[in-house]
Amino acid sequence: MNTIEQAARRFAHLPAHVPDFAVVGGGLCGRLVAWQLAGAGHRVALYERGDAMGTQSAAWVAAAMLAPLAEASSAELLITGLGAASLERWPTLIAELPAPVFFQRNGTLVVWHAGDRAEAPLFERRLRANAPAALFDDGFVKLSGAQVTAAEASLGTRFAQGFLLPHEGQLDNRQVLSALAAGLAERGVETHWNTAVDNMPDARFVIDCRGLGGKPAWPALRGIRGEVARVHAPGIGLTRPVRLLHPRYPLYIAPKQDDLYVIGATEVEGEDMSPVTVRSALELLSAAFAVHPGFGEARILELNAHCRPTLPDHRPAIVWDGARTLRVNGLYRHGFMIAPEVADTACELARALAARSVSGPDSFDDFRHRARWPELLHCEHAVPVI
Ligand SMILES: Cc1cc2nc3c(=O)[nH]c(=O)nc-3n(C[C@H](O)[C@H](O)[C@H](O)COP(=O)(O)OP(=O)(O)OC[C@H]3O[C@@H](n4cnc5c(N)ncnc54)[C@H](O)[C@@H]3O)c2cc1C
Repeated sequence: MNTIEQAARRFAHLPAHVPDFAVVGGGLCGRLVAWQLAGAGHRVALYERGDAMGTQSAAWVAAAMLAPLAEASSAELLITGLGAASLERWPTLIAELPAPVFFQRNGTLVVWHAGDRAEAPLFERRLRANAPAALFDDGFVKLSGAQVTAAEASLGTRFAQGFLLPHEGQLDNRQVLSALAAGLAERGVETHWNTAVDNMPDARFVIDCRGLGGKPAWPALRGIRGEVARVHAPGIGLTRPVRLLHPRYPLYIAPKQDDLYVIGATEVEGEDMSPVTVRSALELLSAAFAVHPGFGEARILELNAHCRPTLPDHRPAIVWDGARTLRVNGLYRHGFMIAPEVADTACELARALAARSVSGPDSFDDFRHRARWPELLHCEHAVPVI
């Protein structure tokens, strides 16, 4: 009997209206988890306070760079390892989705202005320390000015040096959200868009993926605000995300399809969801203009802000309450980069709970020890800090 048949048989006695899993929060993580559980043959319902496009989620605003090596400048080994493994998984996931998603693996280019050259060795040291050795050894190339020009012709001779991280990727966040919404429909998930949920719905198990909206159940969650500009800039022609090293204002410019660029920089502590400030807009757009003056003629399509759901240790976590609820949260600034591995781990635990192979602290510990990413897994009473 395959897993789909097993799932169908296990829950056959339940009333038809009670799903095996209710997923609450249909941003990035909730959509991925619901879609995968439905693909494994489970009856799944999804509740999202916003629309099917995902406009209420942090995922809607994100730049969706998949850059585990570049992120090693501030992220620890667990995150960069999750990111490297997830980067390999995205093409397979995208191939299964019913709508196309822009995905590329053309690397990240890192540059700096002459006055900020002291940042470069610091950045390199952090990458060496925080990334898996193989990722660094095989994926970090120092470039001369001429090589920067050869890599990104449109930057001309503006930068005297750079780093190329050739294996990194990126995708289109909004296409992922809508392709997942189509995938949920295709797999028969009962979707409740525009439905905010505070009391957990009726289901055998509930998976809480509310991002920052999950704070009432998880008070240690906090928001880290980010602001981005989306601009249309025909004629610039960057072929990969460019990161600018800067002591106070590290900028990224992520080129998407059709001359669309997502420009971002900020990390501000707090849960302020109000529109982008004038100061941030000026800094963001001036920094982009300094990377390429062609951005002076770009058209601003959108200035937007959202908050990254963050736990005190800046790690993602999958917490089982010991009964019917799983909480998946804390994806911070790495949601797209690590979601495939985090969602896989959450789905494996969800299915083990449904199959009753995890039913108490001992079997949870066994599951945890066998898991690929045991650091992600917690049983509520064992993790008082979060
Ligand atoms: C400016 C910015 C740039 C980013 N850039 C990148 C990047 O380049 N690469 C990368 O990997 N990551 C990036 N991220 C991070 C990424 O977007 C997040 O880590 C990711 O979206 C977290 O996924 P999530 O599903 O946990 O939360 P979300 O995507 O926020 O989804 C949570 C969902 O829960 C819903 N919800 C909340 N409360 C309720 C409720 N009571 N009832 C029902 N539904 C509810 C929300 O409406 C939302 O749709 C960025 C984030 C920001 C803000």
